[in-house]
Order: sequence, then structure tokens, then C-alpha cells
Amino acid sequence: MKINIIGGGPAGLYFAILMKKARGAHEIKIYERNGPDDTFGWGVVFSGKTLANLRAADEESHAEITKQFEAWDNVDVVHRDAKISIHGNSFSGIARLQLLKILQRRAEELGVEIEFRSEIHDVESLRSDCDLLLAADGVNSTVRMRYAEQFQPELDVRTNRYIWYGTNQLFHGLTLTFRENDAGVFAAHSYKFNSSTSTFIVECDPDTWEKAGFAQLSDEHTREYLGEVFAADLNGHPLLSNNSKWINFLLVKNQNWFFENVVLIGDALHTAHFSIGSGTKLAMEDAIALAEAFQKSANVEEALMDFTSKRRPVIQDYQAAAFESMIWFENAVRYMGLSPFELAYSLMMRSGRVRYEDLKRRDPEFIRRYELQR
Ligand SMILES: Cc1cc2nc3c(=O)[nH]c(=O)nc-3n(C[C@H](O)[C@H](O)[C@H](O)COP(=O)(O)OP(=O)(O)OC[C@H]3O[C@@H](n4cnc5c(N)ncnc54)[C@H](O)[C@@H]3O)c2cc1C
Repeated sequence: MKINIIGGGPAGLYFAILMKKARGAHEIKIYERNGPDDTFGWGVVFSGKTLANLRAADEESHAEITKQFEAWDNVDVVHRDAKISIHGNSFSGIARLQLLKILQRRAEELGVEIEFRSEIHDVESLRSDCDLLLAADGVNSTVRMRYAEQFQPELDVRTNRYIWYGTNQLFHGLTLTFRENDAGVFAAHSYKFNSSTSTFIVECDPDTWEKAGFAQLSDEHTREYLGEVFAADLNGHPLLSNNSKWINFLLVKNQNWFFENVVLIGDALHTAHFSIGSGTKLAMEDAIALAEAFQKSANVEEALMDFTSKRRPVIQDYQAAAFESMIWFENAVRYMGLSPFELAYSLMMRSGRVRYEDLKRRDPEFIRRYELQR
């Protein structure tokens, strides 16, 4: 089979690895607009369950990924200067660039061709030259736009703004920090992903963003401003920028996931708010599901139908939980009157996926103290 892939992110690379591993005779080429060492983003997070899925799919890359991991089992909530830890949540972080390097190496070892610095504009001629065109070209997918009539995308630009930073302050756990000033409420989502660096994402509502005057602030002044807001948390470490810009979260859904020989996966197909776990996990699990569908049938249409029917309900559930979480953060200002324990409890329950009994089993001490305080 001849497979063209647009996008050498986690989805495109992982699908190429799994297909080539299953059948060495497949001819697979990835077109990626960036160079192999271009860094975008900081760390990405995986749950224990995702890691088990990655091990089952490809032990070699799983071994490399977990060698580089920083693992933790706590979610920390910081509110009114108090830090509440909730244990029993298994997560790990790795630098996005490191993950991409591991996947690039593995794909090339298996014989996948990767053409870097190659931005695709003419999607149609690439499509007519292969059995399968995989659109793994991210949240602003060119392929999705080119065939919008066929895919029928639903794009929802959310009101909150967020910005991805790094910092050398180490957050030993998934840390959700709330700070207020005259402009409004700021939430930071942070976690370490190697021995010296943490991801630090700041999110705020549009009123806060306007009042803080970010539209007029340079990159440097924005970092200084937020450095002051989170001074008690950053311990003197500056915020580090990596082409970091304020973004409105884009919620992506598609009515149709494929047509003829083109299929969308990863962020091109769906997004889930970053507060519930990274899009990287969903992108790689899409690749697993799609490669499994091709194991069952070499017929492109049959495989794509199988992929869609198996994966759609999983993504719908995930997006529903992520939607609740996103709404919680969009309305964070309403929760600021809660005590630190109440806020931590509300956060743990926000997606509707965790029940009281689950939390009690995971961290009985947290529930005991929450009930005492309540
Ligand atoms: C700038 C940025 C920073 C991010 N940082 C983080 C982070 O720190 N932590 C985290 O958990 N998640 C982060 N995310 C989100 C997370 O990376 C995504 O959810 C996940 O990577 C989805 O994987 P994907 O392979 O579907 O898409 P992506 O990882 O976005 O990969 C898509 C790839 O397609 C390439 N591409 C796009 N259009 C074309 C074209 N026309 N021709 C050729 N190549 C093309 C892009 O260069 C990119 O490499 C970030 C996303 C972006 C865009």
C-alpha cells in the first residue's frame, strides 16, 4: 500500500510506525513543514493507562519514551496560598520535542521516509498519488479546510485565552494554581517534564485579559506581568517563551471522519481542552485504532469505516468530559469564593468522570479532610 501522510506530529509519526511495523512492504512518506529539531511547545502528559496502550502497540518506542519520563501520582491545587494534594492519579510528562525525536528515529529505522521542511499546499495531487492520504496536520488542518464540504467540520472558538510557557521552577505533580489581582482570575496548569523544566500554561477569561492590557504588552512584558501574578509559585524563576502566544482554544469536531481515500486523525479531527490531559494521547491512540483497522482489512473503505465506528464513541465521551472541564475553567471566577479544600474537590469532580467513591478510594485522607473542613 502507498500511504502519504501530511504532518509529522505524534499522530502522523505513530501511525507510520505502526503500519510499517505491521507490513514492511508498505511505502510510507511523511511530509512535515518544520525541521526535525524545531521546538514547539514544552512538555506533554500521559496517564498510566495511555502508557499501557503505547506499550502494547510498540514496545520499542514505549521503552524509549518511559526512559525519559518524569512520573508523579498527585494533583496539587493551589488557592489562597494553600496547597492541597490529591494522590492516586498516575501521570508522566515528557518534552514534546524529545517525544518527536524518539518517534522520528523509530519511523526512520523502520524505513518510513520523512521529508522535512516540506509544506503541502496542493493536497489533491498528493491524494491522487496514493492509496491512503492521512491528514495528521494538526488543529488548523489544511486538508480539513480543502475538503470542508466532505468532512463538514464544526469549529468552536472559545472565549478564554491561554498561553504555553516553560519555567525552571519544578512542579512535582499536575499543579493547578489560582491567583487573583485587580484584573481578575488567572489559572496556571503546570507540571515538570524533565529534571530541570516544567510546562506552565496560563489561562484567563476575556474580561481579565482585556483589563490586564495584554493586547498592548510585548512578549517580554507579558512574561513579567504573569511572573508577578505567580511570583509566590515561581520562586524567582522567570517564565520562558518558545514562540509563545495567547490562543483561544479551538474546539474541533467533524461530521465525517473520512471520504474516499482521505482520513483525518489527531488534532485535525478533534480537540479536547488541555485541562483534561494532552491532545498527544488522543492523537497517538487514534493512530493505534487506525492501524488496528488496517490489520483487520486491507480494503481502505472497510478499514476507514471500522476505524470511525470504533473510535467515534470513545472520542465523543472524551470530548464530553473535556467540555465540562473547559466550562469549569471558563467560569473559574465563580469558584473563587470556595475554600481551598472545596475548590480542590470541585476541580476533581469537574469532568463528571470521577465519582465520590473513586476519589475516596484513591485518596481517603483527602476526602476525610475535605469532609472535616466542609
Ligand atoms: C505550537 C503547539 C504547541 C503545543 N504544545 C503542547 C504542549 O506543550 N503540551 C501538550 O500536551 N500539547 C501541546 N500541544 C498540543 C498537542 O501537541 C496536540 O494535541 C498534539 O500534538 C496533536 O498531535 P497531532 O499529531 O494531531 O498534531 P500536531 O502535533 O499539531 O502535528 C501536526 C504537524 O503537521 C505539520 N503540518 C501542518 N500543516 C502542514 C502542511 N500543510 N504541510 C506539512 N506539514 C504540516 C505541523 O508542522 C505539525 O508538525 C501543542 C500544539 C501546538 C500546535
